[in-house]
Amino acid sequence: MDAYKYVIIGGGLAGGSAAEAIRQVDPQGSLVLVTQEHHRPYHRPPLSKSFLQGKKELEGVFLQDEEYYQSQHIDLLTDTRALVLDRANRTVSLDNGQTLRYDRLLLATGARAWRLPLPGNDLDQVLTLRTVEDSQRIRDAGGKGRRALILGGSFIGSEVAMSLAQLGTHVTMAFPRARLMARIAPPEFSEWLESMYREQGVRVLTGTTAERLEGDGQVARAVLDNGETLDVDLVVMGVGIRLNTGLAQGAGLALGEAGAVLVDEYLRTSDANIYAAGDIAAWPDQVFDKRLRVEHWDVAQNQGIRAGRNMAGDEAPYTVMPYFFSDLFDLSLEVWGDIDSWDQTVLRGSLEEGSYAFYYFDGGKLTGVMAVGRPDEERGPMQSLIKQRLAYKRSAEKLENEQVTLASLLA
Ligand SMILES: Cc1cc2nc3c(=O)[nH]c(=O)nc-3n(C[C@H](O)[C@H](O)[C@H](O)COP(=O)(O)OP(=O)(O)OC[C@H]3O[C@@H](n4cnc5c(N)ncnc54)[C@H](O)[C@@H]3O)c2cc1C
Repeated sequence: MDAYKYVIIGGGLAGGSAAEAIRQVDPQGSLVLVTQEHHRPYHRPPLSKSFLQGKKELEGVFLQDEEYYQSQHIDLLTDTRALVLDRANRTVSLDNGQTLRYDRLLLATGARAWRLPLPGNDLDQVLTLRTVEDSQRIRDAGGKGRRALILGGSFIGSEVAMSLAQLGTHVTMAFPRARLMARIAPPEFSEWLESMYREQGVRVLTGTTAERLEGDGQVARAVLDNGETLDVDLVVMGVGIRLNTGLAQGAGLALGEAGAVLVDEYLRTSDANIYAAGDIAAWPDQVFDKRLRVEHWDVAQNQGIRAGRNMAGDEAPYTVMPYFFSDLFDLSLEVWGDIDSWDQTVLRGSLEEGSYAFYYFDGGKLTGVMAVGRPDEERGPMQSLIKQRLAYKRSAEKLENEQVTLASLLA
């Protein structure tokens, strides 16, 4: 049995960031990172954007070069899956036959892409996107003159549709919601996005999904629930994820909705020697006074860093406001706060002029902001206004009026 001071399970952004953070606090403590993927930790956002479009190659997506892990004495076990977590003995057994003993363990096992349970969902060229290999497969299957059906109208679906269209693929998007990005976008923003997609040659079918996929070995046709049959060369399902929390469940750790691992403000699970970070972790957020779980890059990175530092003894609570970004054709959007649940929005700026922000309110209190092309000096105050939970009644008219500075709305 190999004994380590720190064991990290999962080599995504959260796990990779945690390893780096541990080393900043504790340069010597023995540290191993176990990942079932073939590669050392890498960034996923390029997989639906620059890497998929062929503008960035593999070397450009890694968190660190190979030498970093050697020079920092971080043992990297790739192609290795953790099978059983035994909390009583503080061990984790791996599929290569090894058993590791830990003082502190981090679960950063992330998520896997989900497939719609349709007839034909296992045909060749019916693809999902989570890993470098998935992205490579989509890139190879798409391209000039190829016909792609994208199922899903949220971020992954929209980004893949954009990238494939830019590669010259004939793209149709279909999703059951009435609008693109319906969960997070106000109706006028969805409308704006849909017209942008159509201008770029993407066919957008709202309120539509596939009933079945057909083909002889490889997918050739998609039968939609609007009665249409599409000839296709590939289908990409961007329909959500499932959390990899089987290890945590098997070990009897406290879990919440969707199997999320419940952590305290120090990112510790219900076992004080085990931490969790990234897509799988649901933490008590102080600003919103409820548990949040966020499937985004910035959160995975910041939680990885915080969990790593906490494991190594530099303890502090996790207090970073959730943030994410997306690129859709020429549009780069950023979101701060929690826009999972909202009932009113206020628009500041103009969609036509490419400089606007939607302020999201829930129960009369500011809960998040989505910004596109806003002046830099608004970034700080936006976040402060969310922290302050600005009241709709007091602010709606002022937010709409660009002559009123955000700073003047701060309490
Ligand atoms: C294509 C794509 C594009 C994205 N674009 C954006 C974006 O533009 N903006 C944004 O904010 N966010 C984006 N995201 C989301 C962001 O990348 C994720 O939130 C982030 O990667 C989560 O990191 P994580 O470390 O928690 O999990 P993951 O990245 O899922 O990493 C978990 C790792 O653990 C491994 N693992 C799981 N179980 C085991 C086990 N038992 N043993 C060993 N290893 C195991 C997994 O194989 C995986 O390598 C994107 C995600 C994808 C897939």
